[in-house]
Amino acid sequence: MSEHRIAMVGTPCEIMAASKLQYYTDSPIDVKLGLFCMENFSYKYFGNLLKEYDLKMEDIEKFQIDKGFVFLLLKTKETVKIPLSVAKRIIRKNCNICVELTSETSDISIGSIGSEDGWSTLIIRTEKGEEIVNGAIEQKFIEAKDFSQTQFNLLNRLAENKINKNLENIEKREFFARPVLYQREKSDDSINREISESNFLDLKANVIDVGVCVLCGACEYACPDDLITIDDTKPRMKGECPPDCHACFTVCPRTFIPEDLRNDNSKAIGDYIKVLTVKSLKHTQGQDGSIVTTLLDYLLTNDIVTDALIVDKEDYLAWKPYAKITSDIDEVVKSGGTKYSVCPVFKPLRDIKEGVD
Ligand SMILES: Cc1cc2nc3c(=O)[nH]c(=O)nc-3n(C[C@H](O)[C@H](O)[C@H](O)COP(=O)(O)OP(=O)(O)OC[C@H]3O[C@@H](n4cnc5c(N)ncnc54)[C@H](O)[C@@H]3O)c2cc1C
Ligand code: SF4
Ligand code: SF4
Ligand code: SF4
Repeated sequence: MSEHRIAMVGTPCEIMAASKLQYYTDSPIDVKLGLFCMENFSYKYFGNLLKEYDLKMEDIEKFQIDKGFVFLLLKTKETVKIPLSVAKRIIRKNCNICVELTSETSDISIGSIGSEDGWSTLIIRTEKGEEIVNGAIEQKFIEAKDFSQTQFNLLNRLAENKINKNLENIEKREFFARPVLYQREKSDDSINREISESNFLDLKANVIDVGVCVLCGACEYACPDDLITIDDTKPRMKGECPPDCHACFTVCPRTFIPEDLRNDNSKAIGDYIKVLTVKSLKHTQGQDGSIVTTLLDYLLTNDIVTDALIVDKEDYLAWKPYAKITSDIDEVVKSGGTKYSVCPVFKPLRDIKEGVD
């Protein structure tokens, strides 16, 4: 059992990978803070798109997506807006078959939909999540207001739209390509049978080569023999797998999902205890209500977790995300704000596994 108790932040697909790691392995992840996520972009192609607007990544102070536009808030304080219909061509292919908006397997989900500017929408899903939010309110880390029916209807409608649009995409795609495994409704027994016959070659054929890999890095983390490496485009394997290993196929969020974790597509935002609109009383540098930063501050300050697994920006490449583990609240604060591209979030967990920290 790891002595680390980690709070992780991630998009719905990354949170699903974390949930599978918890389900199938002895995972150090203890608290899951899931983000809402409608879509994500390729870092390289985002840079190319900006060139068409005579801009570079380093010109941007903040990215915000709202009401059908990508808003670029520039360091010069000007705002440029790109219609999502234009930005559509740089959306990662895997996002077009993603049927989850609100990180349904997290302890607490956070996004902006439904809340006014400077506030965040927060969904409490588990008892652990409820205890954390109540504690953060009591200790005056955050303030909370009820989420009105009108706000709820908007969130629910957008979640339904995403699910329905991408279910259609899955149906079209399955006409001529392999089935999308994570949407298969299979019993746990039959999933276990499939897993027992699968290894990296099956992951490659069903996930990586068909463009549904979300680049989370869970496969790399789980590989006991260090055979997998991930670059900016995809995981690769070098070497020979032992015959009884299925770890990468088991934990991938785009292979079969066990019954307990599987999304019920008829419940647009999944199961939950309560939805609130919330704002930080401690931090302001975040994307919306700075709630993720503040909950991590609360969790670290109260020693509820030992570390936070977060996504910061590289110093040498503007807006290029990379994952790190830290127990330093200043580093958590620095990592606030949304980076609209992907990185293998589980990579830093390998250091913990190998005792490098
Ligand atoms: C790709 C993406 C798409 C999103 N789409 C939507 C959407 O459609 N609707 C919506 O309401 N909200 C969306 N969000 C969530 C939203 O942008 C905010 O992250 C959320 O409201 C929390 O704001 P905050 O001020 O509380 O967070 P902050 O206090 O600013 O903290 C943000 C945290 O997010 C983490 N983070 C930043 N970028 C990434 C990344 N690429 N991958 C994983 N973790 C990251 C950082 O570790 C940081 O701790 C999206 C987020 C991402 C990453
Ligand atoms: S697959 Fe894409 S849209 Fe879905 S959660 Fe992951 S990044 Fe967001
Ligand atoms: S050794 Fe196991 S985890 Fe590693 S690549 Fe092979 S099947 Fe996957
Ligand atoms: S193949 Fe690996 S990196 Fe890609 S989604 Fe699956 S676990 Fe994540």
